[in-house]
Amino acid sequence: MSVIIFNSCKSTQVESSGVIAKNPVIAHRGAWKAENLPQNSIASLKHAIALGCAGSEFDVRMTADHVLVVNHDPDYKGLVIEDHTFSELAKHNLSNGESVPTLKEYLLAGMENNPNTGLVCEIKPSKTKGRNVLMAENVMALVGELKAERYMSYYISFSYEILEKIIEINPYAKTQFLDGSMSPEALKKSGISGLDYAANVFRKNPEWIKRAKEHHLKLNVWTVNKEKDMDWFLNYGFDYITTDEPELLFERIKNSKFEKTDKK
Ligand code: MG
Repeated sequence: MSVIIFNSCKSTQVESSGVIAKNPVIAHRGAWKAENLPQNSIASLKHAIALGCAGSEFDVRMTADHVLVVNHDPDYKGLVIEDHTFSELAKHNLSNGESVPTLKEYLLAGMENNPNTGLVCEIKPSKTKGRNVLMAENVMALVGELKAERYMSYYISFSYEILEKIIEINPYAKTQFLDGSMSPEALKKSGISGLDYAANVFRKNPEWIKRAKEHHLKLNVWTVNKEKDMDWFLNYGFDYITTDEPELLFERIKNSKFEKTDKK
């Protein structure tokens, strides 16, 4: 799922994916906070879809027996994910009673009754040699197997190696780099589609915002939860704002002068 080229109504100009909501709201680990849902749960993804967020972000890791699961931390219920099998993890449920979601279950849930929320797939790097490439390969193979491409708005990672592999597998895949170390020009040169940097990186390097726009790179920022910070990034015309408070961000957009326009 990606962006309709503005100034055009032709469906042929919709990139390889479906229609994405025209707002900058990316729910960080799903829309969990206001509803007191577990982060990265299928319930939080469903809520982000119900809110009409442009994107719902989630974190992917891989178990010792190579099952891709959705969880933020390296460990789940005290078990280091990389060192345990899926069946060991699956003995423990999330706080809302859901079982720990596999990526397959998560993608299938995201493909169901989802008119316009893109899936923002963060692949967490591993310290084990070879594992980053294997994870990227396995994620892309699963997306292909499920025919989920049109729902995948962005692949994001702190690992350049992971993004590089994704682009190698599918040059049409949209990617955003999370580690604030690369300039817009370096990202452009690498074929990465955008910057998804911590808020302080943009505050320290505001010129990167302008340069990213000049290079037609997507601008995304994490994790913006306060009204005044939301306003700052809305004012700069960010394509996306990643937040734990999607409801609040929708309010800021609605009640402010920062209505997103189609100007490019
Ligand atoms: Mg994440």
